[in-house]
Amino acid sequence: MKARKPVVAGNWKMNGDIVANEHLFTALRAALGRPLLGRIDVVVCPPYPYLGQAAAWLGDTGIEWGAQDVAAVANGAFTGDVSAAMLADLGCRWSIVGHSERRQMAGESDEQVAAKISMCAAHGVGVIACIGETLDEREAGATEAVLGRQVDAIAAALAAAAQPLPPERVVLAYEPVWAIGTGRTASPEIAQAAHRFVRERLAACGYGAAAATRILYGGSVKAANAASLFAMHDVDGGLIGGASLVADDFLGICRAAAA
Ligand code: PEP
Repeated sequence: MKARKPVVAGNWKMNGDIVANEHLFTALRAALGRPLLGRIDVVVCPPYPYLGQAAAWLGDTGIEWGAQDVAAVANGAFTGDVSAAMLADLGCRWSIVGHSERRQMAGESDEQVAAKISMCAAHGVGVIACIGETLDEREAGATEAVLGRQVDAIAAALAAAAQPLPPERVVLAYEPVWAIGTGRTASPEIAQAAHRFVRERLAACGYGAAAATRILYGGSVKAANAASLFAMHDVDGGLIGGASLVADDFLGICRAAAA
């Protein structure tokens, strides 16, 4: 049993519909009983319109649910955005922040990611904060520089929060961009090296809960490769994209995390 309780989080991205979701929720409800949820935390992150459906189907199960993103500001003329206060109103207790698809496609900066974390902290919404290098950055030997910069911004936001998030509500996800949706999973050794670096950097930033912080690996995790990744000392579960849409695949990953 690991010192840190593993987390398996499903990022559905812009997938699903009300019927497909119902099938997935039904399968998760049936398979993820309280004994398993005593060993791992499971968080499901559907698109915003289905958060209410997630609440209805999962609310009484111990399976947690969260958003895929959150606004960097409190309120105002930000068409299309959803604030941390609104998520909290809905009973939503998690949000992914800084996913590479938002960093790349929406041009989200480290400063914006930090602002989103501040908003979440102010409203008690836990964060799954994503970091990771591109293939070009890895090949240029810049992985640690990139991760260091991203972790510094996250740690500064956590430290500045007037109402700090409890350590169990702060999750980091190392997701090498070259591994997301590509089928090219990082080796357990590459993942471990990055996770150790991230944990040490968090500590060097003065974040007191660095040793207790769950750091997830994300990037083409499947039931078949999950166990070898999760066996690494600093890999505390996974952020799962494609495989979170197939009940058997996602459940296989959950079982690997609980083993
Ligand atoms: C993700 O989108 O966060 C992700 C890890 O995707 P995939 O598992 O499909 O690589």
